[in-house]
Amino acid sequence: MIPEIFIQFDPSDKRDRKGCFFVLSGPSGVGKNTLVNLILQEMKGIYYVPSVTTRSMRPGESQMNPYVFVTKEEFEDMIARNQFLEWKKIHNNNYYGTHLPTILSAMENGFDIITDMDVLGCEDAIARIPEHVYTIFVLPPSLDELSHRLLERDSDQAAVALRLQRVPLELGHKDRYDFTMINDNLEQSVRELRSIIQGVVDHVE
Ligand code: ADP
Ligand code: 5GP
Repeated sequence: MIPEIFIQFDPSDKRDRKGCFFVLSGPSGVGKNTLVNLILQEMKGIYYVPSVTTRSMRPGESQMNPYVFVTKEEFEDMIARNQFLEWKKIHNNNYYGTHLPTILSAMENGFDIITDMDVLGCEDAIARIPEHVYTIFVLPPSLDELSHRLLERDSDQAAVALRLQRVPLELGHKDRYDFTMINDNLEQSVRELRSIIQGVVDHVE
């Protein structure tokens, strides 16, 4: 059963303005989920919105973490019911999409959110919600290090190869982002991401 809204917001986190919507992009395996999990432990009042996907769960993943895992039929039914801000077929025809009702509810009610999106989905999202969206691109320190991280995470060589194939497309869009950062030293990167988000939240009206 897919919930109507993915997040239960704590009313004390409500801001006296529209919610900020942070979109994190970067090649698969660069460390987006790792960074988000770590900053969420440190920052109060920002919520991770899980994307919806039809890909299978990896060991260590669970429902809502980091995705809402659904069947192809369920995803296609959600497309038909206009439940996505954007969606794409990525990596061997798996669907990935951003849940529109959760995003709109957060923004309209003054809650700050962050989610993960590929570069093409990010373009669609900005076209549809042009205001209060802040985009952050995460780069790997090198392609060798990216391959290493992918191989450490996943023993399925074919799955890793598919993710590496997409890297040039992802990197080709990095200059369109509001912020770019390199995820080299993890502690330093967490600090950098936190300061990007804090900088926006402190200055937005
Ligand atoms: P993404 O969400 O971008 O696909 P993950 O967060 O799943 O990437 O990270 C991919 C792998 O890289 C994981 O095994 C994670 O522990 C590791 N990782 C993430 N950041 C770093 C870092 N700064 N240094 C070394 N390994 C990292
Ligand atoms: P995986 O988690 O299977 O390794 O790869 C996920 C890929 O899909 C990454 O490029 C990630 O940025 C992208 N992705 C994750 N969630 C979404 C989403 O909701 N929409 C789009 N368009 N891409 C997503």
